[in-house]
Amino acid sequence: MALYKNARLRSGITADILVKGGIIAKIGAVQECESAGEETIDLGGKLVCEPYCDPHIHLDYVFTAQSFGENTTGTLFDGIASWSDSKSALTPQIIKERAKKGLREQILGGTQYIRTHIDVTDPALTGLKAMLELREEVKDLAEIQIVAFPQEGMYSYKGGAELVEEALKMGADCVGAIPHFEYTSEMGIRSVKKAVELAVRYDKLVDIHCDETDDEMSRFVEMLAFEAMDNGIGDKTTASHTCAMGSYNNAYAFKLFKLLKKSGINFISCPTENIHLQGRYDAYPKRRGLTRVKEMLDDGINVCFAQDSICDPWYPLGNGNLMYVLDAGFHICHLTAPEYMNRALDLISGNGAKTMHLGERYYLREGNPASFIVIDAESDFDALRNRSGVLMSVRNGKVLFRRKPAEFETEMLSSHLS
Ligand SMILES: [Zn+2]
Repeated sequence: MALYKNARLRSGITADILVKGGIIAKIGAVQECESAGEETIDLGGKLVCEPYCDPHIHLDYVFTAQSFGENTTGTLFDGIASWSDSKSALTPQIIKERAKKGLREQILGGTQYIRTHIDVTDPALTGLKAMLELREEVKDLAEIQIVAFPQEGMYSYKGGAELVEEALKMGADCVGAIPHFEYTSEMGIRSVKKAVELAVRYDKLVDIHCDETDDEMSRFVEMLAFEAMDNGIGDKTTASHTCAMGSYNNAYAFKLFKLLKKSGINFISCPTENIHLQGRYDAYPKRRGLTRVKEMLDDGINVCFAQDSICDPWYPLGNGNLMYVLDAGFHICHLTAPEYMNRALDLISGNGAKTMHLGERYYLREGNPASFIVIDAESDFDALRNRSGVLMSVRNGKVLFRRKPAEFETEMLSSHLS
């Protein structure tokens, strides 16, 4: 049992949180005597919220940027070529060790829920085997969903669709696809239909790398939304990236949004990744290459942010800290108005949880698992403005880590600027 005192909730209210047996027993003013003799932690008015969700990361790729061939053009397609040339040298042990390092950075950034795309266009399914083991090994630290992701195409890679199906049988949680990378549009459409069909047959979630290109003719998202809606799995389906939406003409986008909203599918934007990868074929003016995040928020379509890469052939930076991703996304997507900034954390917490289909158990409510983070801030706006760090992460009542706020010796500074 533990009592967390003086927690600032996102609503602005200050409350105490009583944890018993890994569950939130009470949120509100708790009498000291109720927890007599038990651990009491004073949070000093710091912001407490649900753990961050990273619903799109490639943990089998992390920290390969330097050992794999350099992606000199910075494009998506040369990233895939670099990975394809080098991946056969990887072993489950190497993948696991790198993934653990990435996972540690994510957890220290406040993330506890992760969806990772694992390349299954590999007859040995090396990455999948490594990640299935790791998912089990770290379940007390983080919840991991695995996407059976055919990086080199469901049909462009010989046997790709069969490998995706095999991965689902072995325990992957979601079906992936990459229609814009397939050799022809017809193959791309087939891959989207196949992904939905497999999800229905095996009762899995769907997460498609969809239209990750500046090609305004890449329109697989409409097929995905329709197929998901038609099969009654809109809320279990996600379109990742949808960068082409940033290049669609407004007449088409207006029509498309009606379907997207009706379908109930979720969207993931990866701001740092796609500002880096897209626009590479443009001179000036140069497109931003992100999907229509602001317009989706305005229309009540669920959209969230994700890291995507940590030092891999697609993106040379990234440290698993979603606060940096949030900061980039707010700037690139023109979200710098109070109505968005005052709810900023939704984009790396609740909206991601909805995308991951986590359900009601995710939220900071009485009776739910005691999983939450403490942020070195007083509000969403404060956290966004300062890119505030996470001081503590609690999972099922157990403290994963604690960190002290930064301290400065400010004698000279304070004598002039108090
Ligand atoms: Zn990705």
